[in-house]
Amino acid sequence: MAMQSNAQIVVIGGGVVGSVCALRMARAGLPTLLLDAPSDRRPASYGNAGHIAIEQVSPLASPAALRSAPRRLFAFGGALDFRLSDIAVWGPWARLYIGRSSAAHAERGRVALSSLLKAAGPAWRRLSADLPSPALLIEGGHIVVWEGARAAAAGRKAWTGADIGEARLRELTEGERGGLKQRLHVDIADGVAFDNTGQVRDPVLLMQALEQAHLEAGGERRRARVVGLEQVDGRVHVQLEDGTRLSPDKVVMAGGVGSGALMRGVGHAAPVIAERGYHIEGPVGDWDALPPVVFEDRSMIVTRFGERIRASSFVEFGRETSPGDPRKWAYLKRNVAELGVPMNGPISEWMGARPTLPDYLPAIGVSRRAANLIYAFGHQHLGLTLAPITGELVAALAEGRAPAVALAPFDLDRFASPAMRQTAAIPQIQTSQPQEAQP
Ligand SMILES: Cc1cc2nc3c(=O)[nH]c(=O)nc-3n(C[C@H](O)[C@H](O)[C@H](O)COP(=O)(O)OP(=O)(O)OC[C@H]3O[C@@H](n4cnc5c(N)ncnc54)[C@H](O)[C@@H]3O)c2cc1C
Repeated sequence: MAMQSNAQIVVIGGGVVGSVCALRMARAGLPTLLLDAPSDRRPASYGNAGHIAIEQVSPLASPAALRSAPRRLFAFGGALDFRLSDIAVWGPWARLYIGRSSAAHAERGRVALSSLLKAAGPAWRRLSADLPSPALLIEGGHIVVWEGARAAAAGRKAWTGADIGEARLRELTEGERGGLKQRLHVDIADGVAFDNTGQVRDPVLLMQALEQAHLEAGGERRRARVVGLEQVDGRVHVQLEDGTRLSPDKVVMAGGVGSGALMRGVGHAAPVIAERGYHIEGPVGDWDALPPVVFEDRSMIVTRFGERIRASSFVEFGRETSPGDPRKWAYLKRNVAELGVPMNGPISEWMGARPTLPDYLPAIGVSRRAANLIYAFGHQHLGLTLAPITGELVAALAEGRAPAVALAPFDLDRFASPAMRQTAAIPQIQTSQPQEAQP
């Protein structure tokens, strides 16, 4: 059945990145149709830890992250895992990751992420003020704690020396220490607090608010899977599973991990992998005064969302569609019980994929292979944090304005081979002279 739509812009992907992009363009007066694939699994945008993590300026592709990988392995009690049966997917990706983890790459990545994260907080405030649900953004900081003395010494040193952008590190107050001591069943060796960071009131409420705001701004939204981008005369048309072909003025690719196959179909190198994470969630007991708490020796973050509390962890490389690993939910339940996190009542289990590129930088820009194709995916551990600024940048690209952040470091062609670069005939639109962000 043919889909009727007058939309000038088709956004592929209804996660937080696609939803904010669609909202920002609809608010700018551009008729927008958002397509989201039907699925029985909720994507990362619903299952994340809800943390506005503007402190995470250093990319996870770095010599330090690479060095620490063996001791972070799940087999040794850590949170890092590789699905053996999916080695065909993560093997090539891991080679690229190692290549992008040199000190020089990490430093360039830090500078690039820093520019995005600096703009992320203000963009979040603008988005929050624009949404129908009140107070979706809670700017209450977060806490990092360590149980072991050695982990505490190493962790404190690492955070004290790290670039944390616009976030501010401080000692825990007596009240915070007392609150932790009172609630937890374990002793905390040390802890620090971050200001200027925050959380969303609830990731699911956020997604509902984004959908509602997009519709109210005149946008359309459909459940439909895009199976290909057809390239004709330097432009793409959108091919849907039911055989429909859409020919909008512009296409925005924001399909998380699903973006990779579609972008490769038009000649891009797009090595985005599913970096899978897990959470458990249940009704909250006595946890009210605490912001998100990171238990760093357990690689776990605990966040309260209204009357529920969620514990999230794991970095598991594999296929997005492979089944979840029950040992990981069991590990989370054990940790929650040991710590005394009050999860009273039925506990739900979730697994979903962070869309991650080998240098841990997102891809945001305009395709050099199709003049009407804009892309915004690969937001790794920071998609919730970076969605509002990404939406503003994509809206600027769609309107032909200069974006507020220089986009050269996020150009997808950083992964293209020299031969692929030669076939990219369309000049990149000018992104080197950022202007002030336009709300
Ligand atoms: C356990 C965990 C905790 C996290 N915690 C945080 C956090 O605290 N803070 C933070 O900033 N980030 C966090 N993240 C990361 C963040 O959730 C992701 O970066 C973000 O959700 C990615 O959003 P997205 O819209 O790009 O992709 P997704 O949420 O994956 O959405 C992509 C959408 O595109 C659709 N799609 C894909 N292919 C197609 C197709 N062919 N046709 C149509 N639709 C398609 C999918 O169905 C999906 O709805 C966490 C992630 C995990 C897993």
